[in-house]
Amino acid sequence: MIPVLIVLNAGSSSLKFQVYDAPDGAEPRLVWKGLYEGLGGSAHFLVKDTGGSLLDEMTWSSGDGFGHEEALMHLVSWLSQFREERKPVAIGHRVVHGGEAFSGPVLIDEAVIQTLETLVPLAPLHQPHNLEPIRIVRRRLPGMPQVACFDTAFHQTQSEIARMFALPREMRERGVKRYGFHGLSYDYIASVLKDYDPHLAEGRVIVAHLGNGASLCALNKGASIATTMGFSALDGLPMGTRCGAVDAGVVFFMLREMKLSPEEAERILYTKSGLLGVSGLSNDMRVLRSKVETNADAKRAIDLFVYRITREIGSLVAALGGLDGLVFTGGIGENDVATRAEVIAGLAWAGLALNEAANRIGGPRISAGSGPPAWVIPTNEELVIARQTRGVLGAMPAKLAS
Ligand code: ADP
Repeated sequence: MIPVLIVLNAGSSSLKFQVYDAPDGAEPRLVWKGLYEGLGGSAHFLVKDTGGSLLDEMTWSSGDGFGHEEALMHLVSWLSQFREERKPVAIGHRVVHGGEAFSGPVLIDEAVIQTLETLVPLAPLHQPHNLEPIRIVRRRLPGMPQVACFDTAFHQTQSEIARMFALPREMRERGVKRYGFHGLSYDYIASVLKDYDPHLAEGRVIVAHLGNGASLCALNKGASIATTMGFSALDGLPMGTRCGAVDAGVVFFMLREMKLSPEEAERILYTKSGLLGVSGLSNDMRVLRSKVETNADAKRAIDLFVYRITREIGSLVAALGGLDGLVFTGGIGENDVATRAEVIAGLAWAGLALNEAANRIGGPRISAGSGPPAWVIPTNEELVIARQTRGVLGAMPAKLAS
């Protein structure tokens, strides 16, 4: 029996997983990764090795009632049967919101679950889905150590002022402040930046995590000092379907003048805005790029996305007191050559210049000249979860050995 860690990232109808060997004293090592999709309907399972080769796949028809619980139990039994028997010794979960209570990864117990449930209103799109597999594991695999790893925790290094809204004190005391998100991604980038650019790792860096969710983070010597996301995962840059920063007055207009319910307003801001809302076409950057020459709405959505990124970078440069370099990551940051080129063109004032040939092949260094360097670094949030899970369990070696 080979002990492994499972890393889970659960969505409304999907469950992404990665399986790590966790030899004593060494970095967790990815063995397999896979996903269940279409959960609750016609579900599909696939698993790949680290080279991307398909190892196994399965499909269930919509009548089978195959949901998150069935997926988790299937995964555990699949691991025990596929090739050498592998037995999960712990599960690490991505949990989007840790609120004020959690400044780092935590071993999950009933009290932790209850605290995490109180944070559902702060991340209604993600938190309930993150909590579901945690409850399932407690019920179906009692005794299995579970660790919650938070997207908010990395930003705890920010100053009190950077985290404040100019709202009455009572609201701050109720936890209304800027938490910031994508912390697992920024943690990873901060941990590997020295391998790309040791000088930059000690300097003032802006990391652009541009995916379906998008945000920027200002790092000073590897620590977060400011970010574009705030109290909820709605703030900051426009995203695939989320609006990013809007004047709070817009919400009152939606409620009072448009007579929308809070739920309807929330749905518009979270799921019908951003690239999808502006283009009226798609939240997928690949689709928008393919239509940018022929469709004015696709072009408008991309132009707004890039404009907001460059403007917010200006704000973070001010917070950092200068800029020593820029990092692109996330699905768009890692893959969309044109977005990177357009953002760098908008930062000529800060001394950035593009190396077009390097940008076309994804760098990793995509800047030219003697100004601040720009890098493309693929993120790895799952490895951070595996590291953190291992770190929490490190205090309980008996559980790892069992
Ligand atoms: P999530 O925030 O859900 O993890 P990702 O980081 O996977 O999202 O990013 C998804 C985004 O990345 C989508 O807008 C998608 O179009 C974009 N993307 C992925 N691959 C490419 C590519 N080759 N070229 C341009 N955009 C891409």
